[in-house]
Amino acid sequence: MLSAPLPPDEAERLYALRSLDLLDTPREERFERITRLAVRLFGLPIATVSLIDGDREWLKSVQGLALREIAREHSLAAHAILDNEPMIVSDAQADPRFGDHPLVLGEPRFRFYAACPLHAGRRRHRVGTLSVAGRIAHRLAEADAQALRDLAAIAEAEIGRSLASEVQSQLLRERDTARRQALLDALTGLWNRKAILDLLARELVRCEREGIGVSVVLVDLDHFKAINDNHGHLTGDEALRAASAAMLQALRPYDALGRYGGEEFLIVTTDPEGGPVAVAERIRARLAEVRVATGSGGVVALSGSVGVARCPAGERRELDDLLRAADRALYAAKHAGRDRVVTEDAANSDEAPVQPDGSSTDNAA
Ligand code: GH3
Ligand code: MG
Ligand code: MG
Repeated sequence: MLSAPLPPDEAERLYALRSLDLLDTPREERFERITRLAVRLFGLPIATVSLIDGDREWLKSVQGLALREIAREHSLAAHAILDNEPMIVSDAQADPRFGDHPLVLGEPRFRFYAACPLHAGRRRHRVGTLSVAGRIAHRLAEADAQALRDLAAIAEAEIGRSLASEVQSQLLRERDTARRQALLDALTGLWNRKAILDLLARELVRCEREGIGVSVVLVDLDHFKAINDNHGHLTGDEALRAASAAMLQALRPYDALGRYGGEEFLIVTTDPEGGPVAVAERIRARLAEVRVATGSGGVVALSGSVGVARCPAGERRELDDLLRAADRALYAAKHAGRDRVVTEDAANSDEAPVQPDGSSTDNAA
């Protein structure tokens, strides 16, 4: 494998890249939807939004690969930032530069690769790529090359803006790259437990000061142990990634989503339209649509139970108290039969929890 030479503008390029403040940030729906579209549009299994850092290719969004970074010496995208035109590798196995590449020789054994550079900064430095890859060698039609450029232009527009909430941006700004990694969950690319609790603490302070309500939505995947037991731990891991992607689709950019525990997720949301129950219900509905391919050619469906607790606008509530209330509501959702949303008020009263279809029942599981 031939490592890519450094581009002549490397120092300025790295400065432009780091100014974007995107490296080692959580997965975001605005990039997920671009890689999802790429996979669908080109009929290929793999798509990434990649940023070329000093010594690595870091994947802001990735479909079809369980990786978040690749050493720069092994990065194909590092070659693609040497030119303004898309780099098309019709058959990586036959290409002297890439024939012995670890991802070509070993899994996922891709042969086709195409990448369009992404520019940033006033001088339009090439900071990353939109890349697609597949296991079958083929030529890219000119119309497809244009579609890749078009999607790259959309990705380029996104890398220049930040949509995260004030507290999320603030937490990231306080950390340099190395310390940011300690905030992210390696498996899902979401905020980890420590980070999401930090964000909740900050949001409670800010919301009390500004008179805004803040809610926590606690999600626990149903019967998850059975997925591991029946289909293996790797399918379980894939299910956790798929669940994360589904939940991101149900949230707004300024809602914070974290992996709270093994198969538990915590969402911090401020006064959403329709209230936190609408957010929770969207999450539940999205999870119910997820299908994960098992190693043996089957598919497994997911569902989640959801507890909701809220600190109303203008009030003060301790973090532990809010979490305990969400946990009680979650427990009530499990007890009532799973795959449903329960609020702390419903959990505290004798009122029956809300069913997935919006009706209510007294039947407990
Ligand atoms: P319930 O509906 O009551 O929540 O049932 P459950 O099976 O989901 O509950 P339980 O807490 O017994 O099981 C959670 C499982 O999640 C057990 C653990 O092996 C699995 N798990 C936790 N973290 C990971 C992970 O990172 N990867 C995989 N594959 N499994 C995980
Ligand atoms: Mg659990
Ligand atoms: Mg569970």
